[in-house]
Amino acid sequence: MAHLIPHYIDGQRVPSSGGRLGDVFNPATGRVSGQVPFADAAEAGRAVEAAAAAFPDWRDTPPLHRARIMFRFKELMDAHLDELTRLVSREHGKIHSDARGSVIRGLEVVEFACGAPHLLKGSFSENVGRDIDSHCMRQPLGVCVGITPFNFPAMVPLWMFPLAIVCGNTFVLKPSEKVPSTSLRLAELLTEAGLPQGVLNVLHGEREAVDALLTHRAVAGVSFVGSTPVAEHVQRTGTAHGKRVQALGGAKNHMLVMPDADLGQAADALMGAAFGSAGERCMAISVAVAVGDAVADALIERLRPRVEALRLGPADDPQAEMGPLISGAHLERVRDYVAVGVQEGAELLVDGRDARVAGYEAGFFLGGCLFDRVTSEMRIYREEIFGPVLCLVRVPDFDAGLALVNAHPYGNGSAIFTRDGDTARTFSSGVQTGMVGINVPIPVPMAFHSFGGWKHSLFGDIHIHGTEGVQFYTRLKTVTSRWPTGVREGAAFHMPTMK
Ligand code: NAD
Repeated sequence: MAHLIPHYIDGQRVPSSGGRLGDVFNPATGRVSGQVPFADAAEAGRAVEAAAAAFPDWRDTPPLHRARIMFRFKELMDAHLDELTRLVSREHGKIHSDARGSVIRGLEVVEFACGAPHLLKGSFSENVGRDIDSHCMRQPLGVCVGITPFNFPAMVPLWMFPLAIVCGNTFVLKPSEKVPSTSLRLAELLTEAGLPQGVLNVLHGEREAVDALLTHRAVAGVSFVGSTPVAEHVQRTGTAHGKRVQALGGAKNHMLVMPDADLGQAADALMGAAFGSAGERCMAISVAVAVGDAVADALIERLRPRVEALRLGPADDPQAEMGPLISGAHLERVRDYVAVGVQEGAELLVDGRDARVAGYEAGFFLGGCLFDRVTSEMRIYREEIFGPVLCLVRVPDFDAGLALVNAHPYGNGSAIFTRDGDTARTFSSGVQTGMVGINVPIPVPMAFHSFGGWKHSLFGDIHIHGTEGVQFYTRLKTVTSRWPTGVREGAAFHMPTMK
């Protein structure tokens, strides 16, 4: 029987109070593996109240003490790496090596968060006026909320709560209802590491829970990662209710391949970046932009047999290169896009729609798909597909390639493959995306830098994790102080200046 996944509130597993439930699937088998409660406004309120009650003491806990809990959490994550990897794969479907890598990228944010005492250091100016000093400090916001997507069950939540917490905030995490178990396990490990009750809470649900969190008066900050329409809704609703919001949305990432590029390297990069994690990555390359027909033909010659030979399988198959998609509904959606591309006149060179995995016939598997001669008016070019579908667009020259990338409404990541420094520099300087790779297909910034896109890939302006993350989860206070040594100047009614 499918087990019921509890919320985690005030340091304990809390069963649903009897509201609606959703099915959680094992995407490789297509079978239900668990059930998740959909919190209503009252349950969401309880999670926020637990976080609000924990805030005053946690805010006053020295950053060094908070950091020591993170050090222990890091050790526990290391010790439970296999278990966390299996949990990610079981509900998401990623192959183990990919799932493990994603947990490790999340762990690196925990390592960064261990530097809290240094990251939260303020600044001091002596004698801003005679006998007057000023100092600045960064203080936590209060209760912060994280709302996360299905595609990184560990990494994206870890982009948020470790940093929010070491900065002195308390937190309510609303993970994707499709992959709820990893967040629950992470919260338990953090409690084991010594985190006081109520500092991190995990609330399951979908729109009703999210809207209750976005409008709750005790919530001060909201981090969101997911699709663009929901990111826009979260930013609009959250800011209308006085919250600080960062909302990261969808993507359509381009990789420009110049005639001077190492085409073998570019083809390798495209295989991993387009088909890794079955294309369900916000930094996946979904558009290859070939500069000139010769580059396009040479890339197709290299890519076509490899896309045809992509090996599908469940997470624990060590030979598998690609797992299933997240759900039956998403599988149908991606298949429909492939049909739309054919109707629109793109050339479907590899059609993965009939792929089957022996023993896993009910799994949500789709083989790799490769389109050539895609144009910028087509829906398969304009819209995010979020599956193993690579579109190749042919452009005559570099300028046309750069203009194509910049005209797209999404602006998450982009990449250029070239041996020419001048071209690479012109691209990285002029491209309208938040993250850029030069001969690097998936330029995901490390934990100590910050992650975020431009245009329709990010609403709000502060990127996630790294020093921008510290900025997001704190606000600045500037104190000006005078300790007079008996001098009295009398009342002053003018604006004080140094003239
Ligand atoms: P999604 O937008 O459907 O869901 C994200 C979260 O929002 C989930 O927790 C979900 O429960 C909640 N949600 C869904 N619909 C809602 C609604 N109407 N109102 C309020 N809350 C709602 O996204 P997904 O399908 O889980 O994830 C895939 C998307 O996430 C893709 O578009 C991908 O590009 C994007 N993504 C972006 C980044 C990034 O850093 N920019 C990273 C990972 C994923």
